[in-house]
Amino acid sequence: MTRKLKKALTRLVDAGKHLNIDPTILKKWEFPQETTHARLTIRMDDGSHKHFRAWRCRYDDTRGPTKGGIRYHQSVTADEVETLAFLMTAKCAVMNLPFGGGKGGVQIDPSCLSKTELERLARRYVQIFAKVIGPNRDIPAPDVNTNKMTMAWMANEYDSIVGEWTPAVITGKPISLGGSLGRDDATARGGYYVLGLMAKDLGLIPGARVAVQGFGNAGSYIAQLLESAGYKVVAVSDSKGAICCPAGLDIKKLNAAKERNGNVTSFAGSDGVSRIAADELISVDCELLVLAALEDMIHAGNAANVKASVILELANSPITPEADEILKNRGVVVLPDILANAGGVVVSYFEWVQNRQGDYWSIEDIHARLKTKMEAEAAAIWACAKDKNITLRNAAYVHALLRLVDAIY
Ligand code: NAD
Repeated sequence: MTRKLKKALTRLVDAGKHLNIDPTILKKWEFPQETTHARLTIRMDDGSHKHFRAWRCRYDDTRGPTKGGIRYHQSVTADEVETLAFLMTAKCAVMNLPFGGGKGGVQIDPSCLSKTELERLARRYVQIFAKVIGPNRDIPAPDVNTNKMTMAWMANEYDSIVGEWTPAVITGKPISLGGSLGRDDATARGGYYVLGLMAKDLGLIPGARVAVQGFGNAGSYIAQLLESAGYKVVAVSDSKGAICCPAGLDIKKLNAAKERNGNVTSFAGSDGVSRIAADELISVDCELLVLAALEDMIHAGNAANVKASVILELANSPITPEADEILKNRGVVVLPDILANAGGVVVSYFEWVQNRQGDYWSIEDIHARLKTKMEAEAAAIWACAKDKNITLRNAAYVHALLRLVDAIY
């Protein structure tokens, strides 16, 4: 078994220890149901051809058609795609969505491609994987380096192949092509609702200080939401560096600066904002640390430096299992990824439902449905953690595993 997947599976095995189930049942999820590996050849603008490795993994469809994004990155591997597909399996079960878990990837640096080359790549991906995906089989969505435009090209290609309008085959589409309102900030908003439910019990009061690692889509939206709820965002980072402001950053102005200059560090120097080293962000004095960048950012080598008492995981797998243990022993409460960042897949599910019904919901309706769903699952996980005296991560996997096992007949 490969490294990342093996590490991720330890969390399911740990959950199994808290349940009265036949341990052999866990063998079902030791490896994916189906991974398709293909070569994507595309014609470049200069007439030459380039070839890229691509995957689509349907990790498990015990609870419904598989669901998960498509990632473009030069470091994508089969192990990474399968690990993320496993996480999606757990996440969809945690949220009680009628989906299993899937993921796709292309090993490519998309910044090296022109817009027309990117379009050919997206269409080629669908031509190659058309038999794997489908509105009742496997439903892709955007992930790292793919976006609404990518999904529009892919959905259009799928329609051409099957010969009919099939918007429910892909989520994360532009609104004009059947996308849902509320998808842009869904991941951050979902995490915000989970935090809101637990904040009082976790001792987070208005004015609590927050540091956000990864000021991208998820990170910038959560910073905005937390600021408007009275939190003080004292530090943020991106891949270029980090800044801090003990009096609290002005998130609107910071967003404008990032929009203008492409990074957060250009905001340093104004209104008491100073630059700090990127790896200092996790050790900034604060009550809440939001992880919204990449995987494995908190590990055995730096977990002891975390000052916050609560961590919200908006990124996937930002804390290693070794670091989890260190944080637990230090009393740091982690709101785990498969619950905290599930708002994105919940609104994707809403998009799929709206596409199938042909009935589109207002933004107020989306927010209300998302809040209800996030709070219901968060409350159940919170109660399970207290009842069994286990971490919220353990409890989230217990919650997922119960639902997965229940669906086996
Ligand atoms: P994004 O690309 O918009 O943002 C990521 C941010 O992290 C960028 O600002 C980048 O500069 C920053 N970053 C990269 N390396 C860093 C480093 N070493 N230190 C600090 N910052 C660094 O991506 P996103 O959509 O916001 O996703 C962020 C994370 O959340 C990813 O792990 C993703 O898988 C996860 N996630 C996102 C969604 C979603 O709907 N966007 C849903 C579920 C999970």
